[in-house]
Amino acid sequence: MEKLRIYIDMDGVLANFQKAAAELPKYIDHPDLVLDFSTFEPMPGAIEAVHKILDMGHEVFIATTPPWNHPDSWGQKRNWIAKHLPELSRKMFLTHRKDLLIGDILIDDTNTRGQSDFKGTWIHFGQNGFDWPTTVNTIELLTPVENLLNNLNK
Ligand SMILES: [Mg+2]
Repeated sequence: MEKLRIYIDMDGVLANFQKAAAELPKYIDHPDLVLDFSTFEPMPGAIEAVHKILDMGHEVFIATTPPWNHPDSWGQKRNWIAKHLPELSRKMFLTHRKDLLIGDILIDDTNTRGQSDFKGTWIHFGQNGFDWPTTVNTIELLTPVENLLNNLNK
């Protein structure tokens, strides 16, 4: 079975960083240094989307950049995954260089960590209509029919 290796960003893609940041008092300049990353709500449709991509038979990893100056966030991100996507336990890359990841697809909403130099295809989440339904449809188009049939027969 042919499978794609897919990396998914957390903040703004799986986890709703922006909503949590908007709820902080305005005088806080760096929300990323004070927020508890384990408490973020999932982005709309994100959890279902990851389940669909896994059902297509693909290999899914999380690729996230925790704030260097907020070391607790590193563990908080791990705890978010354990709570919302336990299927992805131990499938987490913490990196400030997403261009160094080796794989087929990177789903990410920013270009601040080398995303545009990723050697596979970067899906710029949130741009050009790439919400979760469109992203799942796009990956399905790249999925061998054999994988989809295997899933139907489960
Ligand atoms: Mg992001």
